[in-house]
Amino acid sequence: MRHTPSHPPPEAQPLGSTLAGWWHRLTTSLGAGATSPAIPQALWDATLARHPFLAERDATDLQQLRLLSMQFLGSKQFSGAQGLQVTDEMALSIAAQACLPVLRLGLHWYDDFSGIVVHPDAMLAPREVHDDAGVVHHYQEELSGEAMPGGPVTLSWPDVQAASVADGYSVAIHEFVHKLDMRDGLADGCPPMPSRALARRWQTVMQAAYRDFKEALSMANRFGGPQPWLDPYAATAPAEFFAVSCEAYFVNRPRFALEWPALLELFDAFFLGPEQPQ
Ligand SMILES: [Zn+2]
Repeated sequence: MRHTPSHPPPEAQPLGSTLAGWWHRLTTSLGAGATSPAIPQALWDATLARHPFLAERDATDLQQLRLLSMQFLGSKQFSGAQGLQVTDEMALSIAAQACLPVLRLGLHWYDDFSGIVVHPDAMLAPREVHDDAGVVHHYQEELSGEAMPGGPVTLSWPDVQAASVADGYSVAIHEFVHKLDMRDGLADGCPPMPSRALARRWQTVMQAAYRDFKEALSMANRFGGPQPWLDPYAATAPAEFFAVSCEAYFVNRPRFALEWPALLELFDAFFLGPEQPQ
């Protein structure tokens, strides 16, 4: 889950009517054993131009990202909420960001769901809290995205568009990383690990980083110190700390390396694997 970011998302760009476009033909023409058509060059170039953190990857990564994105589009079902038409551009933007975390891990990490729902705006989720007097207060929470265990990923399109290198923000990466985390049935900030050694290291490093982040946030709020770079939403739960820090790791690696060197090594060990040193 992801709250809407503190910065306002940009105005939604005109979407045009491309339902008869490349991706629509892809999803309707693919039969068993069919070969996915390649992503048109202009569409791919526009996606990279929209997301600099994708464009900056090296040629080998980009080739793999394009291949996985094509397979992702061929295997997932996109739908627009409230009459929204999901265009080629929207679907590929989401697919490419979703595939970045599994560039080395493989697309099979996403084989436990197929639905991706795109909303024209932030979603309002009904919530309730009980105060000390026992009174129940009802309110609505604004969400930019949500990932259901074993179920669909839901995204607000304006928030997908608001992906930002400076802020280390990408709601698409956030929600799809939750799907990795949930592969073992628990959204606890620890996806299934390839080895016991890495699982132990994960617990140690993540717990320390989560504690440090909450302390830094508390100091900033109480005494007016500098705000930590990660979104404060990361302090709400270990699963959110993992998802928010992964956004920063994938979207702004240089800044992440400065802020969280121990997490950088840890995430490299998981996402890139031991045979892929940086
Ligand atoms: Zn979340």
